[in-house]
Amino acid sequence: MNEDVIVIGGGIAGLVAANRAAELGKRVAVLEKSPEQQYICNSRYTYGTFHINFTDVMAAEDELVRKVEEVTDGTAHKDITRAVARDGRRLMQWLRSEGIELIDLGQYHTNVLSPVQRSGAGLKWNGFAGDVALKRLEANLNRRGGKILRGVKARALRLANPGIEVEVEGAKPLRATSVVIADGGFQANSEMVRTHISPAPERLLQRHGGTATGDGLLMAQALGAATTSEMGNFYGHLHSREAMTNAQLWPRPQADDLAAAGIVIDAEGRRVADEGYGGIYLSNAIARLPDPLGTTIVFDQAIWEGPGRNHVQPPNPLVPETGGTLHRANTIAELAAKIGIAAERLNGVVSEYNTAFDDGTLQKLSPPRRSDRAKAWPIRTPPFYAMPICAAITNTMGGIVVDGGARVLDTGGRPIPGLFAAGSTVGGLDGGPYSGYFGGLIKATIGLLAAESIAAPK
Ligand SMILES: Cc1cc2nc3c(=O)[nH]c(=O)nc-3n(C[C@H](O)[C@H](O)[C@H](O)COP(=O)(O)OP(=O)(O)OC[C@H]3O[C@@H](n4cnc5c(N)ncnc54)[C@H](O)[C@@H]3O)c2cc1C
Repeated sequence: MNEDVIVIGGGIAGLVAANRAAELGKRVAVLEKSPEQQYICNSRYTYGTFHINFTDVMAAEDELVRKVEEVTDGTAHKDITRAVARDGRRLMQWLRSEGIELIDLGQYHTNVLSPVQRSGAGLKWNGFAGDVALKRLEANLNRRGGKILRGVKARALRLANPGIEVEVEGAKPLRATSVVIADGGFQANSEMVRTHISPAPERLLQRHGGTATGDGLLMAQALGAATTSEMGNFYGHLHSREAMTNAQLWPRPQADDLAAAGIVIDAEGRRVADEGYGGIYLSNAIARLPDPLGTTIVFDQAIWEGPGRNHVQPPNPLVPETGGTLHRANTIAELAAKIGIAAERLNGVVSEYNTAFDDGTLQKLSPPRRSDRAKAWPIRTPPFYAMPICAAITNTMGGIVVDGGARVLDTGGRPIPGLFAAGSTVGGLDGGPYSGYFGGLIKATIGLLAAESIAAPK
């Protein structure tokens, strides 16, 4: 046996698992497919807020579980949801003990990787949150006698009794008593995205590191692992459509707050989904359309000056400043001409929406519009605006099924000996009919749990 533990993937979930296992006395190697010193992954790009459904991870365990159950319509898997709600706070303490600085920026941003990058447009990661955390975790792993093997891509797993053999590209197989899959999900595998998420993956904005190609999920399935019953949800945001070609327009500014205050219409002028569920749900709804690049947000001056400026990196003024299209007109009819929709059609949709707003009957619209999560605003203060948008995918929500100790379960609900998973490759925490979001970074807690299960087997 070469190692006690092999971790597949050097993102935050993988490096948490590796360090915790090494801390508990295990010999550990991390396989990272990229050969680069600062290999790109979502953990490198992250803005760094640990949260559970946009709630402070230090909140009471029961409150966190209740929120997740609510936003996922009860579809979240109970064991792993409770385990992360219980131990997320422990991950914060453990990261601090690793020398990682977490700062409090208020609201739910109470544990944020430092230094933060929260200004301007476009992607800046070098020397910020995730980049610094990954470097620190790698240094700690080296100090504990573990290592990251760069340029080593895992491609198959075999139960070797004892242990698991890991087939890698271009080298001899490796073997370990336990394997932790932490490869980040399948958002960068366009065929898997086409199968589960969108008929047109090439028409989604790739708001991620491009490295999570579903290898872990496929390897686990080949060993009989169960995957979540629904795989079609993802975590993502809405962006100016020009973000498809203009890198300054992603990962921020995003247009979620504008969409959740106004209306989102397709090329025929029909509202596409209930805007009141917010940007993550709308991104999913738009991704499922035959043409995910055909939608536009319609709003007015009050929304542009209000929700348009809500965010720390807001679309007002960053979208027009960085080259995103923003149509502006003094009447809805003029706006309709600018976006190529018949004036009667857009006037009809907007006035029906405004009437329902005034009458308190937004729920009776088709599609209905709830106003208790994201507040609906009327669209009546000129000038009026239209922003053509795209749906961006950051990471997939469906994935490998684990129990509360991060053990990968087979389709009969039994643990597969020696196999664990952590991070974005794990499913069962987010999803449901309205794409409820659990959180991304906090799934590194499952890495802690995996290491502890390995060190103290049942
Ligand atoms: C711009 C941006 C901002 C974000 N901000 C936040 C935020 O503020 N808060 C939050 O909670 N979440 C945020 N997220 C999401 C969060 O960063 C991710 O959920 C999290 O980093 C995922 O970590 P991971 O370790 O599971 O996967 P990753 O970080 O993707 O790491 C997986 C690693 O596995 C490697 N790998 C893949 N396949 C193989 C293979 N076959 N063999 C070997 N190695 C392999 C990859 O190269 C990669 O390095 C953000 C994401 C982005 C893109």
